[in-house]
Amino acid sequence: MKIICVGLNYRNHAAEMGRPLPPEPMIFLKPDSALLKKNKPFFIPDFSTNMQYEAEIVLRISKLGKGIAARYAKRYYDALTVGIDFTARDLQHRFSQAGHPWELSKTFDGSAPIGSFVPADLFANHSDISFSLEVNGETRQVGNTSDLIFSFADIIEYVSRFYTLKTGDLIFTGTPSGVGPVKRGDNLVARLAGETVLDFYVR
Ligand code: MN
Repeated sequence: MKIICVGLNYRNHAAEMGRPLPPEPMIFLKPDSALLKKNKPFFIPDFSTNMQYEAEIVLRISKLGKGIAARYAKRYYDALTVGIDFTARDLQHRFSQAGHPWELSKTFDGSAPIGSFVPADLFANHSDISFSLEVNGETRQVGNTSDLIFSFADIIEYVSRFYTLKTGDLIFTGTPSGVGPVKRGDNLVARLAGETVLDFYVR
């Protein structure tokens, strides 16, 4: 399976990163070795001193598809959760400044914790889904899919021009503002429409 991720997909996050709004979705992939399930702890790797959380809604692909039109996109995912796109921000800046791909800073082992899935049809309007992240009981990120630059349907239409989507593939749809660093001992709790879907510790 593959994990497809969208960068800079909320205006307020692009602004906090000092980046212009992307004219088309900005896409990268994480390998399956990045996945972290069942609330297992995240171990900060020794190659970074600025590991940051990015809470994102994650879609689970439920059907094989290629060249999917936006109006049919809803047929291709069956469940949603919240995941963390862990980012070694120091490496990302270093690689970017060198003009190199920053892939390693976001795709290392354990860089994609995901929560428990909620059936997609429980959400009446996929352009109005709220989610949030708390660190040690303090709210750090609050998002709503009404603020997405590229909607779930836009993302699926775009990425399926390049990649065949397969059952079990995941799509991280982007983070709102409020990203920040983690340290050992932190407890991260993510909620989707008020329900806790992810609850784990940083070690
Ligand atoms: Mn991200």
